Amino acid sequence: MDNKIRTGVVGLGAMGAPMARNLAEHGLLAMVWNRTATRVEAFVQQTDSTIAETPAQLAAACDVILTCVSADQDLLSVIDQLLPGIETGSVLVDTSTVSPATAREAADVLFRAGCGFVDAPVSGGVEGARKGSLSVMAGGDSANISRIMPVLEAISATVTHMGPVGSGQATKAVNQVIVAGVAEAVCEALAFSEKLNLPSERLLSVVGAGAAGSWFLEHRGQSMMENRFDVGFKISLLLKDLLICRELAQELDIFLPTVEASIEDYRRLVDMGDGDHDISGLIRLKRGAE
Ligand code: NAP
Repeated sequence: MDNKIRTGVVGLGAMGAPMARNLAEHGLLAMVWNRTATRVEAFVQQTDSTIAETPAQLAAACDVILTCVSADQDLLSVIDQLLPGIETGSVLVDTSTVSPATAREAADVLFRAGCGFVDAPVSGGVEGARKGSLSVMAGGDSANISRIMPVLEAISATVTHMGPVGSGQATKAVNQVIVAGVAEAVCEALAFSEKLNLPSERLLSVVGAGAAGSWFLEHRGQSMMENRFDVGFKISLLLKDLLICRELAQELDIFLPTVEASIEDYRRLVDMGDGDHDISGLIRLKRGAE
């Protein structure tokens, strides 16, 4: 265990678990907590880490707390539960995707408890989380970011300081407009290729090798054409992100057509019961069969 940093991870989902695993490999993981106990038990069996009985116990034992939960209210609720154990001088780094306003609210609450806050949403998917090659978009003051840098470096290939608290999340909103737009284009194109009866393997290989190549096509092209939509990145989570983008656009009095079209599509998929499928499940709508 690194003497300088004892990290506690809260939220061992599709992203949190592999991030915690990488922290363990770097000797930085002290404790973990997850709302659903079965998940945390499975995790500690693989990593030999310690389960906190409560978030407050984790906070009391750690200098850095890394959170990775679903949405805004989940983050605020977890912070409430951490607060009784928070030590002055600790730093909470949140890797969930939430709104910039929620990041600022979290920072205010923690500041009053003597704890620093960095919003550090990530991009790179579960594959990036497993490989420790995420791209981190960080918001917060430089001293806090420097303090947690070994933690961020253990989970990522790049860390970019975007500005004050909230600017990491604002950057992630921009990222998600691109993610949604690429998903729309790739799913529409692959559904089109199926109608044209083109051989899927050769199609993916040839278009992926040229200007149409993308992370999404490379990592999800094959699986979506085989009708496999296991997670991945849940449709319900991208819908949550796009609603954040819409809110930010409304504050600026601008309209984001890609965001609006995507919200409509993902709402339909959630209504169809597909909210837990990977976002590549969008191809089902583009095929026009549903
Ligand atoms: P996930 O697999 O659904 O995991 C969500 C985690 O949050 C679980 O550990 C869950 O605990 C916990 N959680 C949710 N609500 C909670 C609450 N109220 N109190 C305590 N714990 C709570 O989601 P994920 O894919 O890891 O995504 C996590 C975050 O990262 C999201 O904000 C997402 O937008 C973002 N993100 C995801 C990806 C991706 O590719 N998946 C990429 C970048 C960013 P339980 O086990 O008890 O349900």
